[in-house]
Amino acid sequence: MKTPIIYSEKCLAYGGWHIEGPQRVKKAQEVLKAKGYKFLEPQLASEEDLFSVHDADYIFNLKKGLVEDPDTPAYDNIFEYATLSAGAACLAAEVHGFSLTRPPGHHAGRNGAALGAFTRGFCYINNIAVAVKATEKYTLILDIDGHHGNGTQEIFLGDPKIQYVSLHRYPHYPGTGLASQGNCVNFPLEADCGEQVFLETLEKALKKVNWGKVEALAVSAGFDTHLDDLASLGLTEGSYRLIGKRIGKLKKPTFFVLEGGYRGEQNGLDIHQLLCGFEENH
Ligand SMILES: [Zn+2]
Repeated sequence: MKTPIIYSEKCLAYGGWHIEGPQRVKKAQEVLKAKGYKFLEPQLASEEDLFSVHDADYIFNLKKGLVEDPDTPAYDNIFEYATLSAGAACLAAEVHGFSLTRPPGHHAGRNGAALGAFTRGFCYINNIAVAVKATEKYTLILDIDGHHGNGTQEIFLGDPKIQYVSLHRYPHYPGTGLASQGNCVNFPLEADCGEQVFLETLEKALKKVNWGKVEALAVSAGFDTHLDDLASLGLTEGSYRLIGKRIGKLKKPTFFVLEGGYRGEQNGLDIHQLLCGFEENH
């Protein structure tokens, strides 16, 4: 069965000039629609769900349009877009789908910029963290975006119900994730390391997981690791197929949340390969 895609045209309505712009998901949606995927419309995440992850002051200021940094503008109504993106991640968790919305989330910490980063890296609410908290399941969060998910690490460091594993380019934004800490296992990789190194590292990373407890798998799915994208690790469409197969082989209830990936059409093709590989093995 094809993985359902969670998507709303509402998330196209802001930031047309920004690299984290609507074409990232609009063109990806067109590619996936042509390939026969089914789409589900998300609802806003509840404020209670947001408070389970973020400080109340941060949410209050975000709602008022008071949170801004050079990467992450205070767009009109951004609180609503960010809350919808978090709601999309929650729906993806419920139906084992792929959330194809924006803004992304994994750099957003409890109170904004996380672990000493200077900006929130295009993120407002940590979508995957909100979704995982809402499920109340023991979860492995596998972050394959090209940037370290410093927000996700900050939120879940020391949480006995979560294991966080990230493969990412280093040195690179946000400058964190060089070493592992507690339940957060990090694998820094050189720029353009290529598919073989990535897959070997993924294998090593999965060996670090305490599988006995894991009830669910949440994937922070970023495609800026694609060759020549923002955090290139030299991956190609075929690489995502192999990554998807490996994730499918884990045989866990799984959902996916879009993080980075800045070329819309390529995102669509990469998502298709990731999901095809996943479905072949799951
Ligand atoms: Zn990224």
